Amino acid sequence: MHPFRYEPAADTPAALALGAAAGAKYLGGGTNLVDLMRETIERPDILVDVSRLAGDITLDDHYGLIIGAGVKNTAAATDRLVRERFPLLSQAILAGASGQIRNVASVGGNVMQRTRCLYFFDDAARCNKREPGAGCDAVEGFNRNHAILGASPACVATHPSDMCVALAALGATVRVDGPHGERDIPIVDFHQLPGETPQIETVLRPGELIAAILLPANGVAARSSYRKVRDRSSYAFALVSVAAGLELEGDTIVDVRLALGGVAHKPWRAFIAETALKGGPATPAAFRQAAAAELASARPLRDNAFKIDLATRLIADTLEKLTQTAEPAQ
Ligand SMILES: Cc1cc2nc3c(=O)[nH]c(=O)nc-3n(C[C@H](O)[C@H](O)[C@H](O)COP(=O)(O)OP(=O)(O)OC[C@H]3O[C@@H](n4cnc5c(N)ncnc54)[C@H](O)[C@@H]3O)c2cc1C
Repeated sequence: MHPFRYEPAADTPAALALGAAAGAKYLGGGTNLVDLMRETIERPDILVDVSRLAGDITLDDHYGLIIGAGVKNTAAATDRLVRERFPLLSQAILAGASGQIRNVASVGGNVMQRTRCLYFFDDAARCNKREPGAGCDAVEGFNRNHAILGASPACVATHPSDMCVALAALGATVRVDGPHGERDIPIVDFHQLPGETPQIETVLRPGELIAAILLPANGVAARSSYRKVRDRSSYAFALVSVAAGLELEGDTIVDVRLALGGVAHKPWRAFIAETALKGGPATPAAFRQAAAAELASARPLRDNAFKIDLATRLIADTLEKLTQTAEPAQ
């Protein structure tokens, strides 16, 4: 392991001052970063421990619910307000990792976790994300788990987070603190598609720190669900997942929220399907058509064409099941 200095931050200004140094990286629960340091894929000189900062979940008149970046994944998933108002988020977090990991992992670290592409983890393989310009062995390699939407010849890795798929569907905002002050970034704009620069995964600027996630109120809580298809029923990353929410008036769709995991370099908000469905009838045929429209731009690799059909069916089936949920109490 590359030698590093460990600096626990007492508060946000101290974290930002320490985080401004060259070679510094923020440390949450360490469940992802420390693994990557052991593999020498990440080689920070200074670890700025922010795990004791921003540990609250608060109601806010303007923003809805504010979840501090330091809140542990378990605490976020089991919080009463989260379970009542954003059950989709709670389900998505609980679908990820294991109980032990969720007890340690932070919300900020979950947002920033790196891809699980095998070629990224294998330093004998070529990886543009690890070493820009090196090439990508996944494109012609074993790519069953890789992206079908928004990928590029430079990178076909997927974003691994379950939580972020729910955040995308819920229209969450990431609040960041930095050397030039605070700014709010919609989660759908926070993670980037790979293009020619897959090593740049988010719009976070050097030294910036995730402070909180802001969740606006929504009308889909009562009819929402996170479904994850994976090779094992626990402790495995998604092949395809869907975060879905429906608001109905009779059989008419007033609002629909859809995002996919396991299919792209970022959590994939299914805007095409949402637009096709809004204001229309909540029927199985409409769900199938909207799902097919969303997947029309999918470009499969050698081993992952199955994901197109899987994602299409998963969207349609999840939405159909949501129409069968009991009418929400008024
Ligand atoms: C065996 C295993 C299985 C897993 N399975 C799943 C799964 O099925 N689904 C899933 O979603 N996840 C899964 N995970 C990933 C897990 O969710 C992440 O490791 C965890 O969420 C990362 O949180 P952390 O606080 O430990 O982050 P850390 O490891 O501390 O940090 C991760 C990254 O975030 C950065 N960071 C941390 N906090 C901040 C901050 N406040 N601001 C800016 N940057 C920050 C760090 O610099 C680092 O780059 C699994 C992990 C393991 C080890």
